[in-house]
Amino acid sequence: MGIMRIGRAELKVLDLEKSVEYYTNVIGLDEVGRYDGKVYLKAWDEWDHHSLILQEAQSSGLDHFAFKVENAEDLEKLEKKIELFGCTTKRISNGTRLGEGEAIRCELPTGHIVELYHEIEKVGTKVGVVNPHPWPDGLRGIAPHRLDHLALTGDDIETVTRFFTEVMDMFISEKITTIDGEEMVGSFMYARNGKAHDIAFIKGPDKKLHHAAFYVDNWYDVLKAADILTRNDITIDVTPTRHGITRGETTYFFDPSGNRNEAFTSGYITYADFPTITWTEDKIGQGIFYHRRELSESFVKALT
Ligand code: FE
Repeated sequence: MGIMRIGRAELKVLDLEKSVEYYTNVIGLDEVGRYDGKVYLKAWDEWDHHSLILQEAQSSGLDHFAFKVENAEDLEKLEKKIELFGCTTKRISNGTRLGEGEAIRCELPTGHIVELYHEIEKVGTKVGVVNPHPWPDGLRGIAPHRLDHLALTGDDIETVTRFFTEVMDMFISEKITTIDGEEMVGSFMYARNGKAHDIAFIKGPDKKLHHAAFYVDNWYDVLKAADILTRNDITIDVTPTRHGITRGETTYFFDPSGNRNEAFTSGYITYADFPTITWTEDKIGQGIFYHRRELSESFVKALT
């Protein structure tokens, strides 16, 4: 199978403790450890040791993101394919991160850093795997199930999309093209896992993060997420609405460092024979915000 899913993201934040407060009490992740000045977090429904790492830095944004592969041998196979594609790889040694084994690192055509890993400590969930309750006691804040996907910006969408489809064996659920269909200006891709997307790229400046999304149960939980944001005085970028692309339901907001987060739910299931859906650039407003049918300035311009 190779790539199973997006596994983690490391975000750069301006004030570590303020960010930990936000990600644990407003988003509702659990702090699982600290190592090398960084804080490791996981959502309640994730079995692996962590999915989010916070790093204090001078500027906000994405340090890197990573995919979990199914077998240890996948690392070597993908390492060769990445090199053949023309990207330089680097091995990240065992123990560089809390609870993790070796990883392969490379720089994407958009300048973002991506890693692949297989070994990670399994810590499980509080409900366990035998006769589990649907959710554990003591949830805080939005309490999403998991880190769901990232959306990044870059100049060369065609090449970065080719990297993910040809090298990583991922699939395009949806793409945005110019009206004449000549140029791809956005792509939404998934590993063969049934999700609508693990990673999305939108035309824009290289190396930037558009948002990191967390998965909640349903439409009501998106509404409740926005209630929780207001109760906590968090800046909301987009109030609850529906996406045309993925058909998911969503609300967007900012962490204390200005990194955009999303509470996302629903969307369709991608089977192996799922076709690629195309949106033309003139309909991008409807594609992103199905009701409002236009992009707001902050949604386009606020990148970290
Ligand atoms: Fe999203």
